[in-house]
Amino acid sequence: MTYFLDVILPIPLQKAFTYHITEAEAQFIKQGMRVAVPFGKSKIYTALAYKIHTNPPTAYEAKTIHQILDEAPIVTDLQLTHWQWIAGYYMCSLGEVMRAAMPNAFIIESETVLVRNENIEISEATLKDDEFLIYEALQYQSSLKIEDVVSILDKKRILPVVNSLVEKGVLQLQEELYEKYKPKLVRYVKLHQAYKSEEKLQELLEILSRAPKQREVILTLFTLEASEQKPIKVSELRERSGASTSIIKTLVDKSILQEYFIQTDRVQFEGEGDEQTKQLSDAQTQALEAVKGSFDTKSVTLLHGVTSSGKTEIYVKLIEEQLNLGKQVLYLLPEIALTTQLVQRLQDYFGEKVAVFHSRYSGNERVEVWQNLKNNLEKAQLVIGARSALLLPFSNLGLIIVDEEHEQSYKQFDPAPRYHARDAAVVLANIHKAKTLLGSATPSLESYFNATQNKYGFVELKTRFNNVLMPDIELVDLADKYKRKRMNGHFSDRLIEEMTETLDEGFQIILFQNRRGFSPIVECTTCGNSPQCPNCDVSLTYHQYKDQLRCHYCGYYSVMPKACQACGNATLDTKGFGTEQIEEEVKTLFPEKKVARMDLDTTRGKHGFERIISKFEQQEIDILVGTQMLTKGLDFRQVKLVGIMNADNLLNFPDFRAHERSYQLMTQVAGRAGRTDIRGKVLIQTYNPHHNILQQVSTNAYKEMFAEQMNDRYNFKYPPIYRLIKITLRHKDYNRVNLAADWYAKSLRQVFKANVLGPEFPPISRIRNLFNKNILIKIPQNQSLAKTKEAIIKIDNSFNAVKDFRSVRVVLNVDNY
Ligand code: ADP
Ligand code: ZN
Repeated sequence: MTYFLDVILPIPLQKAFTYHITEAEAQFIKQGMRVAVPFGKSKIYTALAYKIHTNPPTAYEAKTIHQILDEAPIVTDLQLTHWQWIAGYYMCSLGEVMRAAMPNAFIIESETVLVRNENIEISEATLKDDEFLIYEALQYQSSLKIEDVVSILDKKRILPVVNSLVEKGVLQLQEELYEKYKPKLVRYVKLHQAYKSEEKLQELLEILSRAPKQREVILTLFTLEASEQKPIKVSELRERSGASTSIIKTLVDKSILQEYFIQTDRVQFEGEGDEQTKQLSDAQTQALEAVKGSFDTKSVTLLHGVTSSGKTEIYVKLIEEQLNLGKQVLYLLPEIALTTQLVQRLQDYFGEKVAVFHSRYSGNERVEVWQNLKNNLEKAQLVIGARSALLLPFSNLGLIIVDEEHEQSYKQFDPAPRYHARDAAVVLANIHKAKTLLGSATPSLESYFNATQNKYGFVELKTRFNNVLMPDIELVDLADKYKRKRMNGHFSDRLIEEMTETLDEGFQIILFQNRRGFSPIVECTTCGNSPQCPNCDVSLTYHQYKDQLRCHYCGYYSVMPKACQACGNATLDTKGFGTEQIEEEVKTLFPEKKVARMDLDTTRGKHGFERIISKFEQQEIDILVGTQMLTKGLDFRQVKLVGIMNADNLLNFPDFRAHERSYQLMTQVAGRAGRTDIRGKVLIQTYNPHHNILQQVSTNAYKEMFAEQMNDRYNFKYPPIYRLIKITLRHKDYNRVNLAADWYAKSLRQVFKANVLGPEFPPISRIRNLFNKNILIKIPQNQSLAKTKEAIIKIDNSFNAVKDFRSVRVVLNVDNY
């Protein structure tokens, strides 16, 4: 008998690839084990064993595998079932799902570049002969490719040696080095050496008797040092003494206190894990019971709780229950980088059971979470992660929480798999017979619709925790303010008044502007020309700080020209405004206050975001200017005022979800105000104060917004009433894209008739020198989704058979919103 093995290769191949294996191998290999295989002329890949059978492939001669890399499967059957669903539903290959799911260290291949790990001491005696040869080679050259390893060892089958060296930490994959791990530094204080003696201390307290606040700080530090017997954090001292940051700073400046820094390793858990979970309020208890009740009959429940209603504490109770049952829990967040606050909170409760799965963590850390989960270890019982955490090897899942379920970043746009993590989570939970809880203050229309259709259970939490009032939202009419000359730059007199009052009371302010940079458009006032990106069809954005023009699509930049490149006059002017300009204006308006900016430009790097958040938390910043990054579930205690600089560019965004998203975004930003006992204030500046969405935001009328938006979705055949599949054709030649798109659309129309829209160029049709053209298919509720996809795949196959179109890239995007 001849045996064959179908494998999954981590590349976009439509079909499984088949290799020849021996009978002994056929008996040993199980689905989910890794095998090293040759591919093409000289490539080596790590593939996953999929199916064993006895049918030779018809189109090609099966090669033999190089060797088996695992003793036992590292990908589980449940995982594969889920991956298969993703590949089928989102119309991509299993290999693409595999690539997205597995840490690179698991799938070493020809292209992988290996380097020496400088951070560890290696005892050469622990290395086998082959391993030593590689190790030695890396003493003389900085990196090795897989083919170099092949020639050093003079054999083809080298992946086990490489894997073993990676596991021992001798080698690292080069791509992992781009994000160098930076330790997090925490600020501590101590009393200066000079005041350590009893007598000097008395003297000091004497002197400070006229500065009672400073004296209080010193006394508190003394008590803390005596009782805690460990270094005292600045934040701790401030909290305990009730002193402001500036008082502590004064003491440091006078050299009475000394600051120092200690590294804390944030991958290792920080929380003690012994903090008791909170006693729930009556409203929370009711909601918790309702969620549990709903889970008796429904596998998915939507928790709609206004901002600051205490949803997190309800999740915590549900998590606690699952952990006590020995089950695993997955806590999904839209963007893990933005969640230090939450991670800290959960670690305080659950300590070492918490594993954070972070795409920016190094390969080794991710491999560890993978192994711990697969082995059902306590160390990874609660996984907190962004969307890709869904693809991990859960073995015993009891509950998935999808926090901020309305967030767009749950959808992956590029590359494939273009999956929506909320929807894929529901499927994963079903595979494990587990439950899914979706939580949001501003649910997506789809989820709310599913709840009204009784497909999902539904629980509401209408009041804020502690009965804190919802913020007071005021709309400011910009047209009127400009007319009556009540504007200072982009600030209305009302906004300035409220800001002044808030700062006088010692509270903090958040200002929201959804564009980064200084101004999005540069235009010549003489000839009207505006500088464009050479690679994309967009105008360049002016960034004042670097005096540059930048493209936000491809990263192109140039210095800001002195004169217009078209007419030569020095009359270049900027139009519109971004976060940078707002920051600038605030600094002029409130020169004595501390202002910071949070957007993509200021938060690069692994901890850029955390640094700003923690400074704001520590009240080292008075006014924070930022983009939507500010909306993501942050809990600041001292923010009283939120200003939305301009609501109109949100509302006018060309997308069928623009209104829904505007509602969500503004409600979420507004929700950052007044989260403790003081009532927050929100000012929204707009040219359209009577816009329905703004009225609904200001009266917290979610249901009204839902009803109205659903009406539009019915009328214009959009989700959640119709489903959408978007097909994008992409090529560097404009004419070829046109021809290809016309061909494709025509074929689709023969099947789907009037439900095919386009082809159409998107607003920005050229990005990175490639032209894009879109076709949209609307799928009515009574039309089979599976049949629809079959028909598309058939058309796609014929398309690829046309010689002229072979170089045109086709991107299929299911639920492209
Ligand atoms: P949400 O996630 O709904 O916006 P949070 O869970 O962040 O709300 O809660 C808002 C604030 O109220 C947090 O600072 C939280 O610590 C506090 N809080 C919520 N529930 C309780 C409780 N039962 N006891 C004490 N504090 C609570
Ligand atoms: Zn560009």
